[in-house]
Amino acid sequence: MAKAKSSKKTVHSIATLGSHCALQVLKGAKDEGFRTLLVCEKRRLDLYRRFPFIDEMLPVDRFDEVVGDRCRRYLEQANSIIVPHGTLIAQMKSQDIEKIATPIFGNKWILRWEADRNLKEKLMNESGLATPRAVASKDKVDKLCIVKLHGAAGGRGYFLAWNRETFEEGARKLIENKSIVSEDDLYIQEYISGVPVYLQYFYSPISGRLELMGIDRRYESDVDGIGRIPAKQQLGSGVEPSYNVVGNIPLVLRESLLDEVYKMGEKFVQAARKLVPPGMPGPFCLEGVYDREGKFTTFEFSARIVAGTNLYIDGSPYSGLIYDEPMSMGRRIAREVKMAVKTGRLEEVIT
Ligand code: ATP
Repeated sequence: MAKAKSSKKTVHSIATLGSHCALQVLKGAKDEGFRTLLVCEKRRLDLYRRFPFIDEMLPVDRFDEVVGDRCRRYLEQANSIIVPHGTLIAQMKSQDIEKIATPIFGNKWILRWEADRNLKEKLMNESGLATPRAVASKDKVDKLCIVKLHGAAGGRGYFLAWNRETFEEGARKLIENKSIVSEDDLYIQEYISGVPVYLQYFYSPISGRLELMGIDRRYESDVDGIGRIPAKQQLGSGVEPSYNVVGNIPLVLRESLLDEVYKMGEKFVQAARKLVPPGMPGPFCLEGVYDREGKFTTFEFSARIVAGTNLYIDGSPYSGLIYDEPMSMGRRIAREVKMAVKTGRLEEVIT
């Protein structure tokens, strides 16, 4: 897909959708001297009115109105760019995101690669990352597997299966509660046991530098709560572990693992540049599991800011090594826009 042509030379305001990490993004934009604009569902206006760093709100009934003429004109007049986040990916189809005429921070074409399971695998393989084995069919389930729904569902509805019967049982429940239409809507993957870790990066085309901005792990219901129930009661309770994200927990890694963390991020940036021009400007996240040997297997990436960065509005143990001021991911994005405008290179950080 060709890159959108834009002659944009400067930016007055930074906009995002009212959800996910909007507060962090707009607080960071304000701290860097931009005006801030929130495209906000009417039902959430009261929440966001509480925050004085939001200069303007554009009320909508649904987020997909952001593709429409009214939003486009409003954002154009405000000389705004949009910072995309998980809600945009979850609520809009890739083709609609690509149609958004307002400039998007980062590479909007790569968001399709995040949403599409096959493209995602292709990019992770090109990056040389170790990934879990995909299991072709329910007949091939012969050890512990995780069964996933397509798209960014925040782990909702995922279940574990270890043979054909347990797969069918889990699938039947999802069909009954209308989460899926048929078993074909499911994707089976080898389960990696260990510690799930989310690596939050920022790649700057302006400085040519990859920054590790923070690390977190998720707190997921019910899988993380299940350990609070003793084994005897667990067996009798019929609790089904699911992976619905409820929050995020900060994490620092053993320092000896960091070299590999940077190398994985750099390989991802190189692969993205090759497969999806203009590559991976801005925030992204590699999501995986460290096993008992300290080997990282990546099960997922996000090609945009992730909600785990909300932990670090005042900076993280890693951003603090690079910046002598509180540097959230939201603020880092705004800083990049500022540097790009100043050096006449805005086109390199927006699509
Ligand atoms: P999002 O798009 O919001 O990141 P998602 O719906 O794509 O979420 P994942 O991040 O892929 O969901 O997975 C949700 C959770 O499932 C993870 O946090 C992790 O706990 C678990 N998980 C996913 N894949 C594996 C795997 N192969 N082995 C072990 N655990 C896994």
